[in-house]
Amino acid sequence: MVTRRTVLRTTSMLALTMSTASAEPAESFDHFLIRLRADAAARGVTAATFDAALGGVTPDPAVMAAMRREPEYGKPMPAYLASLVSPTRIAAGQRKLAQWADTLRAVQHRFGVEPAILVSIWGIESGFGEAPGGWDVFRSLATLAAARFQHPLFRNELLSALVILQQGKIPRGQLVGSWAGAMGQPQFLPSSYLRYAVDFDGDGRADIWSSVPDVLASIANYLQKFGWRASLPWGFEVAVPQEFDFRSSRGSLRQWAERGFRHADGGALPDAGAAILFFPSGASGPAFLVTDNFVVIKTFNNSDAYALAVGTLSDRLRGAAPLRAAWPADDYQPSREARVALQRRLAALGFKVADFEGHLDFDLRDAIRDLQRRFGMTADGYPSRSFLQRLGVPAR
Ligand code: CA
Repeated sequence: MVTRRTVLRTTSMLALTMSTASAEPAESFDHFLIRLRADAAARGVTAATFDAALGGVTPDPAVMAAMRREPEYGKPMPAYLASLVSPTRIAAGQRKLAQWADTLRAVQHRFGVEPAILVSIWGIESGFGEAPGGWDVFRSLATLAAARFQHPLFRNELLSALVILQQGKIPRGQLVGSWAGAMGQPQFLPSSYLRYAVDFDGDGRADIWSSVPDVLASIANYLQKFGWRASLPWGFEVAVPQEFDFRSSRGSLRQWAERGFRHADGGALPDAGAAILFFPSGASGPAFLVTDNFVVIKTFNNSDAYALAVGTLSDRLRGAAPLRAAWPADDYQPSREARVALQRRLAALGFKVADFEGHLDFDLRDAIRDLQRRFGMTADGYPSRSFLQRLGVPAR
């Protein structure tokens, strides 16, 4: 379900996968444009549109510099969450919930995604539209595509941006976004815009740059198309029963209740649905039961920390208390290099590994649980320093 095109959306995530840049040498920018023009024509882009988009455009050294910047990854979970789920953002989000209540209700009615989740993603992606980025999408994407960065991802995104311009609804000057081409208030790459952007205010164009109804409906449509289920929460913090034997990581919420799990606030679990037990920082930190909707949030940005930030922010917007359990004081989250090295080690040991880009999905966490049991460690699925050292993976 999770494709590269949909996961590589934000600047931080893009920087993570730099090592996947092609080894082929980059062609000259002029030659790149000549070949691109032919492919654009095949997608219905006229010469006039092509020239309006890319005439006189030169590679942007600032984009190359941003691409090379050290990515923020391996940041301790409490620091990451504190930066995204700040008191300022919670207060601003609650104001937005009230201000846009009617629109949010209408969007929820059509797409089945609750207001607090939509406002959380809007807030984290662009500060509720205040920081959507002002980089020229064509110049950014052409710079990355000509450098064959994550080839052919950015070349295809550039072709999609040309198709958007060809449609004639969004003016050339409005196509701005992050340094890596993520556009407007929901930070959609052009291919996501073409697939998921929605005209909700009825003016005939999906304007994710300046129409809040279009922004909220586009995020909701995206989540719905990736399988959002209206009846499920994203997940919740749980109290782990003392006698829990760490043998189970998955089950129906009814089974989790039978195993003695309760909401962290003491309440009973919902009756319907299934959930995965998730210890972002190991069994000594907060524990969560997360549902399929948590995995849907990860299609927006393939990171457990991101999905946890969206989920906990949505809870706070609804007035919930902060997390009950404390994060470990010396919380360790492995760097990208350590994650990739762990993936290679697990693959060498015969475990199925979905990618070698450092994404720790729940299958991989189950593989970690298997090994933790063999090593006589607590099977919490968390790649601690001691676990990595036990496997001979440098813990950085
Ligand atoms: Ca519109």
